Amino acid sequence: MRNKIKEIALSRIERLFNLAIKMLKERPDLSQRYIEIARKIAMRARVRMGKEKRMLICRHCKRFIFPGVSSRVRLQPRREPHIVITCLYCGKYMRRPLRRERHGETAG
Ligand SMILES: [Zn+2]
Repeated sequence: MRNKIKEIALSRIERLFNLAIKMLKERPDLSQRYIEIARKIAMRARVRMGKEKRMLICRHCKRFIFPGVSSRVRLQPRREPHIVITCLYCGKYMRRPLRRERHGETAG
């Protein structure tokens, strides 16, 4: 039963993200709203959003940030390669390592 709920939650989140990306230019306000709903669904169903999705939500202000539109993505190849995502709403940044996340790791 529990898994079913998670399954439904994940498919809803998926759809909301797709909608948010689609509406990004015409209705950025709606995009934000969709992401807000997606976050709430994830919290309620206690599912973890995928890595790619988490990269689209600012860790600080929780807004929907899309590369080239509301976030700036920079590659930092020195030492430990990682990308730096700067949120253009709050100006803060988050780092994401480029190497694969180990299974079960709780980064982010
Ligand atoms: Zn932000």
